[in-house]
Amino acid sequence: MRSHYCGELDLSLDGQEVTLCGWVHRRRDHGGVIFLDMRDREGVAQVVFDPDTVDAFALADKCRSEYVLKITGRVRPRPEGTVNPNMRTGEIEVLGKQLEILNSALTPPFQLDEFTDVGEDVRLRNRVVDLRRPEMQDKLILRSKVTSLVRRYLEEKGFLDIETPMLTRATPEGARDYLVPSRVHGGSFYALPQSPQLFKQMLMASGFDRYYQIVKCFRDEDLRADRQPEFTQIDIETSFLEEEQIMGITEGLVKEMFQQLKDVDLGEFPHMTYAEAMSRFGSDKPDLRIPLELVDVADLMAGVEFKVFKGPAEDPKGRVAALKVTGGAELSRKQIDEYTKFVGIYGAKGLAWIKVNAIENGANGLQSPIIKFLGDDVTMKIMERLDAQNGDIVFFGADKETVVNEALGALRCKLGEDLNLYTRDWAPLWVVDFPMFEETDKGALTALHHPFTAPTCTAEELKANPAQALSRAYDMVLNGYEVGGGSVRIHKEDMQQTVFEVLDIEQEEQREKFGFLLDALQYGAPPHGGLAFGLDRLVMLMTGTTNIREVIAFPKTQSASCLLTQAPGEVDAQQLRDLNIRIRRDPASATSH
Ligand code: ASP
Repeated sequence: MRSHYCGELDLSLDGQEVTLCGWVHRRRDHGGVIFLDMRDREGVAQVVFDPDTVDAFALADKCRSEYVLKITGRVRPRPEGTVNPNMRTGEIEVLGKQLEILNSALTPPFQLDEFTDVGEDVRLRNRVVDLRRPEMQDKLILRSKVTSLVRRYLEEKGFLDIETPMLTRATPEGARDYLVPSRVHGGSFYALPQSPQLFKQMLMASGFDRYYQIVKCFRDEDLRADRQPEFTQIDIETSFLEEEQIMGITEGLVKEMFQQLKDVDLGEFPHMTYAEAMSRFGSDKPDLRIPLELVDVADLMAGVEFKVFKGPAEDPKGRVAALKVTGGAELSRKQIDEYTKFVGIYGAKGLAWIKVNAIENGANGLQSPIIKFLGDDVTMKIMERLDAQNGDIVFFGADKETVVNEALGALRCKLGEDLNLYTRDWAPLWVVDFPMFEETDKGALTALHHPFTAPTCTAEELKANPAQALSRAYDMVLNGYEVGGGSVRIHKEDMQQTVFEVLDIEQEEQREKFGFLLDALQYGAPPHGGLAFGLDRLVMLMTGTTNIREVIAFPKTQSASCLLTQAPGEVDAQQLRDLNIRIRRDPASATSH
């Protein structure tokens, strides 16, 4: 139907006849002529109708926002003084000769031609119209460019795109499963994959050597701004490569993405151990754009009588750390109170602070409610360790190590954002040397990554001291977000069984849940490893938003529902009967049905 996209027109087409198809972005009447801005996915072009072209003019007069049109006309330079340098097509306009209304449209629920601050709910309910907005088109076009680059990059390196099942057994990645009832096997359920982890490992055992897939994964967990119940991974697995090589290939991929699509050179990614990341930043995904660090001060507190500090300082599982914020002495009491509330979310019972007003006067030059408990001596030793200067504020965290890390780690990011402390736009890194296991609240061990990750030690050492064991896992972190994670895997059955044992998974359960994997490992599985990127998160970062829903065409809300289709929905009684399912309603909801 069309000869050109609206957004493609420029002066090189001066004098040519073009046919455009698209939507009325905006309509203006100007002293007897009608201007229609026509929009399609490539951009907007201005079309002018004057009364001489009687039929077209009459139709143009009827057009309203979001009508779908086909227009034929001649490209000409805009009259002097009306050139719009902010528009790709701003030097030209089209003199409209013929107009066909392909479809009319109701008045859209919100304006598309200018930034209007409509609530996200309204946008998601009217997603079809929302996606027409140029910003949304740009984001999804970028997303498509990313996946196309991924395919090219990986295929050039010999990776094969192989699909894995969506109806499968549970793949433990630490979340709840989405279950699908089986009609044929009444009472049995498929699980939607939390990742293709076990299938990609089995493909390595099958000899495919290099696999990738751009694939949906499903995790039923509490949602946050950067999480969705279904999300897309760029999933990768290789055989006969060590972690350095796997990291090299995947780092190359992300660098290429940023270079080609954003003209950004990410440089070489530094490597940091998990232990260092936790100690300096309180997080295993540190945002290195922020120049604030946690500093341990427990040793200086050991002698003080102040229980709040003394307890954690003497507890082997405790931590006492300080966070110095240059220039932070200007924070008001109210702001500090808000930060105190903020760290409370992470379990911190308070937020002690010291403002540095005149360090040359020793402890007298400091302002703080806690100096009287610490004593001048200890206080000044802390100031020395932190190299505190006038104008600084020092915050303290004293609690269980996990609480201090989470609270001060989050505070560090919040301060970075609130005070705009960022030193650069992009800060990628690899975090390596993760522990194999972490302790749950109940004292049991769980795999920090997943139970298929290889340890750096032997099976005997692992059994003897699981809490100390490190894994061959690596995470790629960008601006404080984990954008990818992977590991070298266990490729021998006895090691896999040892890990299951440490995780307290009995033989019988091992066979029942993972028998197929254990078998595959016994039929000549090669050493292998890989990684998966969160595609949505990567594109989210590339488009400069912090809301993952902005880069997904049809996302779910924080309560995991789709406002457009109203999923999840109820199903009729017959369907349930076929599936052998009876819904139990609690008394409260029963009355409403
Ligand atoms: N399956 C892992 C995940 O989903 C990634 C990997 O280890 O390759 O996080």
